[in-house]
Amino acid sequence: PACYTKPKAKRFDHFLSQEAKSRKASTLKSAAGYLKNPGIISLGGGLPSAEYFPLEHLELKVPTPPGFTPEETQKSGSILHAGKHDIKEGKSLYDLEISLNYGQSTGSPQLLRFITEHTELIHRPPYSDWQCTLTCGSTYAWDTALRLLTERGDYIMMEEYTFASAAETAFPLGLKALAIPIDAEGIVPEGMDELLSNWDVQARGARKPHVLYTIPTGQNPTGATQSAERRREVYKVAQKHDVYIVEDEPYYFLQMQPYAGEGAAAPPPPATHDDFIKSLVPSFLSLDVDGRVCRLESFSKVVSPGSRVGWIVASEQIIERFLRNFEVSSQHPSGISQIALYKLLDEHWGHTGYLDWLISIRMSYTNRRDALLHACEKHLPRDIAHWVAPAAGMFHWIEVDWRKHPDVAAGKTLEQIEEEIFQSAIEQNVLLSRGSWFKADKSATMEKMFFRATYASASFDRIDDAIARFAASLREQFRL
Ligand code: PMP
Ligand code: PLP
Repeated sequence: PACYTKPKAKRFDHFLSQEAKSRKASTLKSAAGYLKNPGIISLGGGLPSAEYFPLEHLELKVPTPPGFTPEETQKSGSILHAGKHDIKEGKSLYDLEISLNYGQSTGSPQLLRFITEHTELIHRPPYSDWQCTLTCGSTYAWDTALRLLTERGDYIMMEEYTFASAAETAFPLGLKALAIPIDAEGIVPEGMDELLSNWDVQARGARKPHVLYTIPTGQNPTGATQSAERRREVYKVAQKHDVYIVEDEPYYFLQMQPYAGEGAAAPPPPATHDDFIKSLVPSFLSLDVDGRVCRLESFSKVVSPGSRVGWIVASEQIIERFLRNFEVSSQHPSGISQIALYKLLDEHWGHTGYLDWLISIRMSYTNRRDALLHACEKHLPRDIAHWVAPAAGMFHWIEVDWRKHPDVAAGKTLEQIEEEIFQSAIEQNVLLSRGSWFKADKSATMEKMFFRATYASASFDRIDDAIARFAASLREQFRL
């Protein structure tokens, strides 16, 4: 197979933090290796006996492809069973006896295998020694990545507007954000190159940044998606300056059908799984000949955020350091979540059913996005509100031309106007997020004003009303 002919990843010892370098294997977890010895009687590890797990079996009702709607699932969904002793009874490869106990920090081998196959199917990483491990979601994986790759006082690169929690994870670790300029396609590679080429250690009081945090697909908050060409250029800049890329991709499978335009219906869904996979923009992982990418994946936006299960993909060296950290922190995601996902994904849907599910949410998000865009086209005052149709994710980023506000001449600032529009929208009973909340570098001055609207959560038929209310606020504030 290809994994034997591809080159190995580069080593990244020079990026590992003091903390990462000093982590040893957990003493107690290492002892678990001896449990494989046939006939061994363990008086070693403090694993409770399964007789004291007060869960005998779990029953899950789930969709059966292609009937993915809640109505279809209620009528003709499948009931999946997970028993305590299914392995011994030859009913399954995974059971409650195993999943309810402590497990390996990679997550259960059963679910990990599915995820590794899925990664191969979608991304085909171009080096040989890539690995996956389960995580308790991308929030936690990002926190761990920072501990492994940075020291207090470092700068990390982020899109100029970024996921607020990702920045808030970093700041108390003593990190500062270097805001990378963005355009409608996300990171501007020339901008990143320029910042790195002209890095002044003395003036900045910090070494040259070596970590890029990026949300390449359906970026939060801007909704921007980097094209394949853009990703190749960013990767080249990362190679030139020896930068490690953390791609945080919860919205990868929320890539939608192309926007058909005002009033038009979306094109039909991809006809085959092959067409679907080909329609997806290549990930940084799929371009990563050096092994300098850690891909953060999450079930949050495609199955359930409360499951707290995600996974990461990176080179063996980096995964090993993550595992040493997980062993003494999260240990692994909840066993209840793991067995539920295993039953659904591996035993029930399989890869083909999961792809069918992903296509079905692609179409649902396409419909929601189209409803929001049609509402914007209908209601928003076009001389002050501008946007680009998002190609992925759950966010619509609306620029409001604040300089056209009647009080600018009298000295009203962008921040004041943003606050007033936000409050006026609340009075109209609609909540949007303010662009300034997402600034990576809080000290940077803003030239433009934005609001973030999501089409993910409001019920479908209320999206039009919500945008009409926001439009009323804009008209009132701008006295139109
Ligand atoms: N603290 C102590 C003193 C323990 O003995 C254990 C489990 N052996 C833990 C914490 C780990 O707890 P948890 O499984 O909730 O992470
Ligand atoms: N990363 C980004 C860019 C997000 O927008 C979100 C969710 O809001 C997350 C990570 C959180 O992911 P998880 O639920 O896997 O921790």
